[in-house]
Amino acid sequence: CGIVGYAGPVSGAPSSRPVDVALQGLARLEYRGYDSAGVAVVDGDQVRIDKRAGKLANLREALEGRHATASPVAIGHTRWATHGGPTDGNAHPHHGGRDGELALVHNGIIENFASLRAELEADGYSFLSDTDSEAAAHLVAREMEQVGDLTEAMRRTAGRLEGAFTLLAVHRDAPGVVVAARRNSPLVVGLGEGENFLGSDVAAFVDATKDALEIGQDQVVTVRADRVDVIDFEGAPVTDNKRYTIEWDATG
Ligand code: GLU
Repeated sequence: CGIVGYAGPVSGAPSSRPVDVALQGLARLEYRGYDSAGVAVVDGDQVRIDKRAGKLANLREALEGRHATASPVAIGHTRWATHGGPTDGNAHPHHGGRDGELALVHNGIIENFASLRAELEADGYSFLSDTDSEAAAHLVAREMEQVGDLTEAMRRTAGRLEGAFTLLAVHRDAPGVVVAARRNSPLVVGLGEGENFLGSDVAAFVDATKDALEIGQDQVVTVRADRVDVIDFEGAPVTDNKRYTIEWDATG
């Protein structure tokens, strides 16, 4: 339903900024309606996911006293369930990989998830949810194992998915990187000073920046604190994304 992403500097120093930005973005996205919410960070070697069915207050409570992490990145999600009931386990983010080395959030519907799930289960991947989304999490993780590059792993995964999706992923072995892809589902980048943002709509990051970059249909975007790179699903660089200033009525 709603997605937020954050990429700040890779310093190793504990900061609450990534989790704070994610929670603030999720609060801004509440107006869309949702049944669950969650946040993932990459804290050292550990991809940590906190997620709860119900109101954002439940997630806030789960995260209380744990906003400060060594993670330079965060991704967050408010879910409107399409596949699998509104439970803690079906909430996003989802872990991907044999070792839980990746976290992924998804808006939309992956039509061919059942065959992908069967393929991945046969390959030894364990599923913990009833969602269509978890197949995408394991696919990106498996591609990452093969190519060692999170952008290329996301590009290859996007090419195998049918349906509508905005996907964001973070990975233990890609410090400071949030990678995203979209097809038939919205995605916008927010450009900050020494930090960058992602959102399913500009509300996700409007408290932090008014400088936005439109992401086109069938594109993959790789966001770091100090750069944003866009390619299409064939792997060709894209340089004509429209940059614009968000008009935001603070009273609205
Ligand atoms: N299809 C996914 C699910 O049911 C994502 C739903 C959404 O867009 O929030 O978990």
